[in-house]
Amino acid sequence: MTETETGRLIVLAAPSGAGKTTLVHELLSREPELEFSISYTTRPKRPNETDGEDYFFVTKAEFDAMRDRNAFLEHAEVFDNWYGTSEEYVQSRIDAGHSILLEIDWQGAQQVRDRRSDAVTVFIMPPGREELERRLRGRQTDSEQVIQRRLRDALSDMSHWSEFGFVVINDNLDAAAAQLAAIVNGRGEVSQTDNPELIARVEEILAAGG
Ligand code: 5GP
Repeated sequence: MTETETGRLIVLAAPSGAGKTTLVHELLSREPELEFSISYTTRPKRPNETDGEDYFFVTKAEFDAMRDRNAFLEHAEVFDNWYGTSEEYVQSRIDAGHSILLEIDWQGAQQVRDRRSDAVTVFIMPPGREELERRLRGRQTDSEQVIQRRLRDALSDMSHWSEFGFVVINDNLDAAAAQLAAIVNGRGEVSQTDNPELIARVEEILAAGG
């Protein structure tokens, strides 16, 4: 990309258990030009997280104040906590010619799509129900109740896949990262949500297990 070009706005959403975090990490290492947008959240910081790197951790009052002054490009409540993307930050990076990656939930993606027709939106799907459940159970820190809720939420999140421009099925990290890199670089035709083969595969995943 030349310096005179403006950057792209890439929006990535996935249900919990789709393997999004690892995939995003892999994508960012393949596409060093792509910058990760650090969100604001009212969620308490986890022990392995750093303020200003993983998120900007703020109080509900601070979050509400940002919302009241229209500081968010999008914001949403996810799992009882609030999350939002700073519009000023995103716009300044795009104006400076950098492409920026928003890793947000489907509600936020919907808001971005409504406000920014130039946004490239991608939904990441787990390869199947069994694998989804296995991945959700793999997080040893969560209780059974939390797992069941996450499973329900994941299935409900997945029903929004066709609202996105692109869909990537994460059955293999390498292949999924390559597909994402192609989308980021404007060559993601096979991953478009109107691709009949892809539609059939996604419908199979959604139908499996009732
Ligand atoms: P976690 O708390 O596990 O890091 O993230 C929980 C969910 O919040 C994930 O689905 C993640 O994509 C979503 N999320 C993270 N940042 C944002 C944001 O700025 N806006 C929206 N709408 N969702 C976000």
